[in-house]
Amino acid sequence: LLRVVNVKKRFGDKIVLDGVSFTLNKGETKVIIGPSGTGKSTLLKSVNRLVVPDEGEIWLEDKEIIRCKNINAVRQKIGYVFQDFGLFHHLTALENVMIGLTKVKKMPKKEAMEKARYELNRVGLTGIEDLYPAQLSGGQKQRVAIARALAMEPKLMLFDEPTSALDPELIGEVLAVMKELAESKMTMLVVTHEMGFARSVSDEIIFIEKGKIVEQAPPEKMFREPEHQRTREFLFKLK
Ligand code: ATP
Ligand code: MG
Repeated sequence: LLRVVNVKKRFGDKIVLDGVSFTLNKGETKVIIGPSGTGKSTLLKSVNRLVVPDEGEIWLEDKEIIRCKNINAVRQKIGYVFQDFGLFHHLTALENVMIGLTKVKKMPKKEAMEKARYELNRVGLTGIEDLYPAQLSGGQKQRVAIARALAMEPKLMLFDEPTSALDPELIGEVLAVMKELAESKMTMLVVTHEMGFARSVSDEIIFIEKGKIVEQAPPEKMFREPEHQRTREFLFKLK
């Protein structure tokens, strides 16, 4: 479904992505781990062209993203959830989920409302439809953001440290929603430091450092017998 081929990106004279290649099959969840500042967010942003790579190719099905003419059509197929939620503060939870449906998909308001309720329900949120983001907990906000992305019926979901702005007791509710999503065979690419999630939910883990993939393996292998010394050191430090 997603194929990243030899992607390179530099900011000034700093090389941030240095020839990254991997594929993500339909229905798979891959987790990206790695130290701070090694290009994980840059890689995710490249996938919906919030960052334009200098070299390489990124294919979503039969569309090449870096050079395609109609990026908005591609972005509609990609849900993007990041650390600080990105909700509209002047809109209620329900309106936040509806907005893409009415504005981008031109769905009639009534239908959009029904769909938005359904999506909120799916992430375990009922009874908060009319509350504003400021009235929600971090975990609820992030679940609204996930519902908003899902409402657009994306083919691919990108998560960039979706729980790292949350209090520890709220992390679980967001991870539970993501786990369910993975089990429903959504295709997902997730940057996270939550190793429990990586271990139990992902099909494969990608360890990236200094813009390069050091190691890519199923969680059992990555945690039990990593090939590379660097991976071992990184995983050991997390414990
Ligand atoms: P973290 O774990 O802290 O989120 P990361 O792996 O996501 O880190 P990136 O955000 O991709 O790292 O950043 C990689 C490097 O690129 C950093 O050194 C960062 O300062 C630099 N960088 C990112 N975006 C830009 C930009 N728009 N302009 C200049 N430099 C940038
Ligand atoms: Mg980042």
